[in-house]
Amino acid sequence: MNNRQIFLSHLAQTTDFPLMIEVEKAEGIYLFGPNGEKYIDLISGIGVSNVGHRHPKVIQAIQTQLNKYLHLMVYGEYVQTPQTLLAKALAETLPPQLDNVYLVNSGSEAVEGALKLAKRFTNRREILSCVNAYHGSSHGSLSVGGNEVFKRAYRPLLPGIKNTVYGAYSNLSQITTDTAAVIIETIQGEAGIRVACREYFQALRKRCDETGTLLILDEIQAGFGRTGKFWAFEHFEIVPDILVCAKGMGGGMPIGAFISNKEVMGVFKNNPILGHITTFGGHPVSAAASLATIQVLKEEKLIDQVEQKANLIKSLLVHPKIKSIRNKGLMMAVEFESFEVLKKIIDRAIELGVITDWFLFCDDSMRIAPPLVITEDEIKTACRLILQAIEEN
Ligand code: PMP
Repeated sequence: MNNRQIFLSHLAQTTDFPLMIEVEKAEGIYLFGPNGEKYIDLISGIGVSNVGHRHPKVIQAIQTQLNKYLHLMVYGEYVQTPQTLLAKALAETLPPQLDNVYLVNSGSEAVEGALKLAKRFTNRREILSCVNAYHGSSHGSLSVGGNEVFKRAYRPLLPGIKNTVYGAYSNLSQITTDTAAVIIETIQGEAGIRVACREYFQALRKRCDETGTLLILDEIQAGFGRTGKFWAFEHFEIVPDILVCAKGMGGGMPIGAFISNKEVMGVFKNNPILGHITTFGGHPVSAAASLATIQVLKEEKLIDQVEQKANLIKSLLVHPKIKSIRNKGLMMAVEFESFEVLKKIIDRAIELGVITDWFLFCDDSMRIAPPLVITEDEIKTACRLILQAIEEN
């Protein structure tokens, strides 16, 4: 059996049509196959490789940590340098209200932690989340997801969850003194890149303050420079009570976090009911990689270039078959007539050496979220190949 046959036989499948790209090596914006194939990765492993695949400084940090120690103890017991320095580095990217970091393994786990924290801190049980939101695949994070088709088979899910429309002022009245938290993606990702306006976020912040409700912003996809600011909420001049992040955080290594302040986070350490326990959360190797990732984002001034690169993509991807482009920085959705049209274009683009994808809840739009290290020349090449794929379909 070749690798593809083994893949289909023994790896549990998540979709009827996996991309099935075989990768032997990845570097920067490129993936390389076993038979000389070379692909431009325009999706960054779904918003993960913001600093590019195998950034040398990330690799160096990983190697250095490998020579020191791997797992030592359940998260939060020993003073481990990578975790400690990472927490400080994260706090330095954030406003002073967000200075207490809980490291976990993934986006879903970060959401779980944030929801538990909000319930515990407010002693309330209701949570408001958005239609078409994606917050993860575990039971809790799925419960606050906004797609009924995804949720139906797993009911009963968490009680006390209300769904509301992302970005609609009408939902503010649904936030009451019974609401523990509102959880919302700053930019909706899997809904196909939907961006609410600054005024909405400000009104949401105000309503949460009035009712004593915690505002949880999910920046698992939008954080770490993807939108042209380190954190997407900076565009809207608000500060959440709890921020959740993962994906781009580890520069390719698995790690996530929910971040708040000492007062809120403090409820988690009260015995006898511990807050959130995680064996591998903030794994030292992942934490070292994450620290290096933050340094690379800053040193290479990658975030400052996001807007210009996004504008270049928008100026190049002009074609009668493209209905619109929605974006916040390099978090982009290119809209086509239908899923059928888009599928052919995505498949052809892969043959031509460019990897794009669609979204969980928006199958007529092409996902474009390249590593932020992509150059203008590479953007021109990628867009030329996408236009060729469009033209041929
Ligand atoms: N929230 C958002 C906004 C996401 O995009 C994702 C992943 N696509 C998650 C949460 C879940 O993260 P993970 O897959 O790491 O559990």
